[in-house]
Amino acid sequence: MKRPLLEFTDKGIYCAPADVYLDPWKPVKKALISHGHSDHSRWGHGRYITHKQNVPIIRHRLGEIEVTGVDWTEPVHIAGVKFSFHPAGHIVGSSQIRVEYRGEVWVFSGDYKSEDDGLATPYEPVRCHTFITECTFGLPAFSWRPQKEVIDQINTWWAGARAEGRTAVLFAYSLGKAQRLLSLLDTSIGEIYTHGAIENMNEVLREVAPLPPTRRITRETQKKELTGNLVMAPPSAHGSPWIRKMVPYETAAASGWMAFRGARRRRAVDRGFVLSDHCDWEGLLKSIRATGAERVICTHGYSEIFARYLQEQGYDARTESTQYEGEMAEMKSDEPEEEAS
Ligand SMILES: [Zn+2]
Ligand SMILES: [Zn+2]
Repeated sequence: MKRPLLEFTDKGIYCAPADVYLDPWKPVKKALISHGHSDHSRWGHGRYITHKQNVPIIRHRLGEIEVTGVDWTEPVHIAGVKFSFHPAGHIVGSSQIRVEYRGEVWVFSGDYKSEDDGLATPYEPVRCHTFITECTFGLPAFSWRPQKEVIDQINTWWAGARAEGRTAVLFAYSLGKAQRLLSLLDTSIGEIYTHGAIENMNEVLREVAPLPPTRRITRETQKKELTGNLVMAPPSAHGSPWIRKMVPYETAAASGWMAFRGARRRRAVDRGFVLSDHCDWEGLLKSIRATGAERVICTHGYSEIFARYLQEQGYDARTESTQYEGEMAEMKSDEPEEEAS
């Protein structure tokens, strides 16, 4: 039997003819990186190749690394294998990685979202023979409302908190969700203040994406200046002494998991807004159809259920286990990992 173009090994997704890995989870010589979330871009590789918008993000997270940034669709030739990066629409700089060798094409989705959020370069389906897809929200129960609708709810919630003389504290992951929300909030309602973890990431992303003005909360920030305004903080700030400065406040979280009954209570927030940076069930199916792929490999998320459904639809589908689990970790633990929704 012919060796597959991409193999799942204990270090990550391996392309043998080029001797490189895609989003490896153990240190390797050369890594192609789909995006900046910590489960996909790990520390310790000899060389990183990624989309140029992701370069400042992983430099911020990983420090002095050897990294090459490339443009969308720009070919990267390694030992006769042609690699290229294509928009995944998940967060700014997130890519699908296309791999072509001797007429055969594989695409690794990384994490992706089919709805255009206005900030990340919109997802584009890429034709291929084999598609490696994430399945974070691969259950029929996940069906997102259009972004506009959800943002209207969030702005209405903020305006309501302001009318009552309270601070609106919105929890969002510091890389991705936070900047997406910032770009969509109605700044005519009031000022936006940020937790340091989010503001540090904003400073990095301002190099590559337009964001509204925000104010970093410091020791000097007065309680009264926060009242009626919106504070954006990472989920880990909830329940910490940091939040006392916001009293009186209302809390909300924006995540795909808020679609789950009980998720809002579990996170102990007053409001839950269903807003995800991943595809919902229909989004996954539509995207997969658009690739024209006959073979589909399902990774992190509800991969078993999703692969079985694809098989029933006539696809040659199977699952592979990986160590990408940022989004799943959020539901499994009470202390959600930062930077992954
Ligand atoms: Zn991600
Ligand atoms: Zn992922």
